[in-house]
Amino acid sequence: MSIGLADTTLLRNAAYIDGHWVQAAKEKTFQVHNPATSDVLANVPDMDAEDARRAIQAAERALPEWRALSAKQRSQKLRAWYDLITEHADDLALLLTSEQGKPLPEAKGEILSGASFVEWFAEEAKRIDGDLLPSQAPDRRELVLKQAVGVVGAITPWNFPSSMITRKVSPALAAGCTVVIKPAEDTPLSALALADLAERAGIPAGVLNVVTASHGAEVGTELATNPAVRKLSFTGSTAVGKLLMEQAAGTVKKISLELGGNAPFLVFEDADLDQAVAAAMQMKFINAGQTCICVNRLMVQDTIHDEFVERFAAAVDQLTVGNGTEMGVKQGPLINRKGLDKVETLVTDAVGKGAQVVRGGERHALGGTFYQPTVLTGVTPTMACFSNEIFGPVAGIIRFSSEQEAVRLANDTPYGLAAYFFTRDMGRIWRVGEGLEYGMVGANTGRFVSETIPFGGVKESGIGREGSKYGIDEFLETKLLCIGGIEPLG
Ligand code: ADP
Repeated sequence: MSIGLADTTLLRNAAYIDGHWVQAAKEKTFQVHNPATSDVLANVPDMDAEDARRAIQAAERALPEWRALSAKQRSQKLRAWYDLITEHADDLALLLTSEQGKPLPEAKGEILSGASFVEWFAEEAKRIDGDLLPSQAPDRRELVLKQAVGVVGAITPWNFPSSMITRKVSPALAAGCTVVIKPAEDTPLSALALADLAERAGIPAGVLNVVTASHGAEVGTELATNPAVRKLSFTGSTAVGKLLMEQAAGTVKKISLELGGNAPFLVFEDADLDQAVAAAMQMKFINAGQTCICVNRLMVQDTIHDEFVERFAAAVDQLTVGNGTEMGVKQGPLINRKGLDKVETLVTDAVGKGAQVVRGGERHALGGTFYQPTVLTGVTPTMACFSNEIFGPVAGIIRFSSEQEAVRLANDTPYGLAAYFFTRDMGRIWRVGEGLEYGMVGANTGRFVSETIPFGGVKESGIGREGSKYGIDEFLETKLLCIGGIEPLG
C-alpha cells in the first residue's frame, strides 16, 4: 500500500543477502502492520535458519576484501551512506512512523540521530591505531594490532528500528567487519530501507545483509551459535539477552548486550522544579514510554512531592495522543497488543496494592493499542511497576525522605542502564552521581544520548558500549605481534 513516500523504492518487500533482494528459501512471508491503523504495509520474507546461514556465508565471503580496504576507503563508503540517509530523512521518518507508531518529529529525530552514528564512525574508521610497546628483550619488538573481529550478527528491537541498526552496523563496518542484521519482526521496513541506501552508497555485496523473520528465535539462534559469526551485538529484552549469552558461549563469541532498564528519576527538594518536570515529561513519554532509558520510577522527596505531582500532572494534560503522522501528536500507540496488556497488568497491580490514579489509568478512547498518559502516586517497592520495565506511558511516583534512602531505592534493582537526578547541591551531584549503580547518569538533565557518548549499562542491563570513541573497540580484537631476532646495530 502507498504511504506517501517520495522515493517509493525505499519500501522494500524482500530481504537483502549478498547484494540481492531475495525471498525466503521456503518462500514464506509475513505481514508488517501500521500500529495506529492496523493497515498492512508490506509482506516481507519470513526467513529461517537456512536463510540465516546463507547470509552468514555471504558475510564470510565478503570479509577479506572489505577488511583489506584502507580505513579511508571504508570511511568514504560510510560517509556516502550517511549522506543518503540524511538526504532521504523525511521518507525514512515516514516509514518509521508507519511501522512503529512514534510521532513523525520523533521519527525524524531518530533518523538523524541514527545517521550521526554513521557519520561518527566514518570518522573513527580512520583513527583505529595500535601500539608499539617498550620491549622486555633487546632483540624483540612488541606491537599491538587492532583487527576486525570478523562476521558480526546484529539483532535489533522495534522501539528504535533505524538507529539501533546504525549504532551497530556503522562501527562494525568502520572496523572492517561484515554484518548480518536480524531486525525486529514488528519493524523490518526501516532496516530494509537502510540496506537499500547502503547498496546505493556502494557498500559491496555481502558486507551488510538483512534477514527478516516473523519470530526472532530461529534466525537469532543461528546467529548466536554459528561458528563463522565472531561477534554478537544484541539490543532487546534481558530475558532474550541472557539466552543469547548462553548460546554464544558455545563458540565463545565476543558479545555486546544492551538490555532492559529500570531508570530511576530522583527529584530532591532543592531541584529546579520547572527543569525537573520538563525532563521527567520528556524521558517518561518519549516513544510512548517505550525506550530502555525511559523513566521507570519517578522518586520525589516528600517535602516537594505534592507540588511536583501537581505540576507534572498539568504537563501530562498537554499531551496529545493520536496517529503519529498527525500534526501536534505527542504520543502514538503502543507497538502491539502484548505491550498494551503488559501496561494494563502493571497499572491494575499497582492500583490493587494501593496506588492512586492521578491521571489516565485506562486504555485510550482511540482504541487499538492506544493507552492514556498515566500518573500514579503512592507507588511502593512491592508493586510490579517498581521492579519491571513498564515500556508504556505510565509514570509511577514514589516518595522518599533522605538522600541515602533515595540512592538505596534507586539501586534496588538488578538493572543498571540509565538514571537521572535533579538537585542544585554540588556535593550531592558528586555523591549521588557516584553512588548510582548505572552505566549512564544524568544530573539536572534528561538528555545525554548522542553518538559522542558511551551508551550502555551495568548489572543485568548489559555488556559493552555503543557510540563514542569506545564504541569501535567492541568490533576489534587486540592482537600482539612480537618480532624477534633483531640484531643490534653493528
Ligand atoms: P521485546 O520484548 O522488546 O520485543 P525481544 O528481546 O523479544 O524484546 O526482541 C528483541 C529482538 O530479539 C527482536 O529482533 C526479536 O525478534 C529478537 N528475539 C526474540 N526472541 C529471540 C530469541 N529467542 N533468540 C534470538 N532473538 C530473539
